[in-house]
Amino acid sequence: MLDKQDLIGKKVLVRVDFNVPLNAKHEITDDTRIRMAIPTIRELIGRGAKIILMSHLGRPLKDLDDNGNIKAKYSLRYLVPTIESLCNKQVEFITSSLMDDAAAQISPNPDIITLLENTRFYKGEEKGDPDLAAKMAALADYYINDAFGAAHREHASTATIARYFDAAHKDFGLLMDKEVKNISKILSDPMHPFCAIIGGAKVSDKILLLDNLLDKVDTILIGGGMAFTFIKAQGGQIGNSLCEEDKQDLALDLLKKAELKNVRIILPSDVKATDSFNNDAAVQFCPIDKIPAGWLGLDIGPASIASFESEIARSKTILWNGPAGVFEFSNFNQGTFAIAKAVAQATTQGAFSVVGGGDSVSAINKAGLEDKISFVSTGGGAMLEMIEGKVLPGIAAMEK
Ligand code: AMP
Repeated sequence: MLDKQDLIGKKVLVRVDFNVPLNAKHEITDDTRIRMAIPTIRELIGRGAKIILMSHLGRPLKDLDDNGNIKAKYSLRYLVPTIESLCNKQVEFITSSLMDDAAAQISPNPDIITLLENTRFYKGEEKGDPDLAAKMAALADYYINDAFGAAHREHASTATIARYFDAAHKDFGLLMDKEVKNISKILSDPMHPFCAIIGGAKVSDKILLLDNLLDKVDTILIGGGMAFTFIKAQGGQIGNSLCEEDKQDLALDLLKKAELKNVRIILPSDVKATDSFNNDAAVQFCPIDKIPAGWLGLDIGPASIASFESEIARSKTILWNGPAGVFEFSNFNQGTFAIAKAVAQATTQGAFSVVGGGDSVSAINKAGLEDKISFVSTGGGAMLEMIEGKVLPGIAAMEK
């Protein structure tokens, strides 16, 4: 990270991803994203730099109050105490209605970390506006992009801004480096057998991902709501389970392509079904293609869990994205937790594992298994787009 540069007293603008969940009392309920950026911040502090942090939080301009104003809950000011305690430094918070008036408020003291207000308070941010990016860039001598979670966005603070710094004055942060290195590793040089576990609600969200994976993996285990579109397309009875009717042909195409490429796609064989979408409704286990009318599958069943576990156990590279069931309901999270445990176990036995996406990462964390996974990605969307083979704007912009 800016290895050859003398950073003593230099202003370094660090784009981080502090898009953390907060409760109604403005308390951070999961500070993982902040913690993940700390190594970069510490390293820069150690090298004598004056740090200016910027991040987005939520989508403030898409959720204005009745008077058309930005809601207080989107302010980054509530993050100050957490950043102060994690960095062990004083943090000053800067509000500015236009980026123009931020510069004058920033303390030059390198012992004080400066935190700018939510980048998405500015209309130009999500449009990648060059004027806004130029104003942000004018605040500092150097630019560090450590926001992997936002790297798939072509926004002013994540991409356009890089134009205003030459190669010697911009770089990726330590987190960004780690994310790119680990995700590239499974894509370019995986050990075999390589197994991808893909879950979540919809096939339509994961089509490109599955398509690109067919050229890399040996096996794909499909869980979650998306499995039902495949099962129905094959003639199964799925009751009221989630199904994208118009994606059935696509599901059959994917199965055909997989066969041609010698990739095994393994669908669940049984489900835990319920008669209403609710944690405490009646349940029964049944074959996934014989779900009674009116019932819906909300988790994979024990036979599927056993078959997924044995596939995971024999794999040397494992990629996991997306829950196997409605993980938010405690009665339907067994499949997802079983996968979390199986991936951790395989990793202990020498496999290389990468997990990404909100629910999968949350399952790993809740099970206390984060140290048993080779790499837990902070960027759900960015990770998916990288695996889909897309060039991420936040990465491409730095290389120009
Ligand atoms: P995604 O964001 O695509 O990874 O999808 C995550 C969502 O899929 C979670 O909110 C889960 O509740 C949902 N999901 C997983 N399995 C099912 C299922 N069998 N039926 C309905 N929703 C599901």
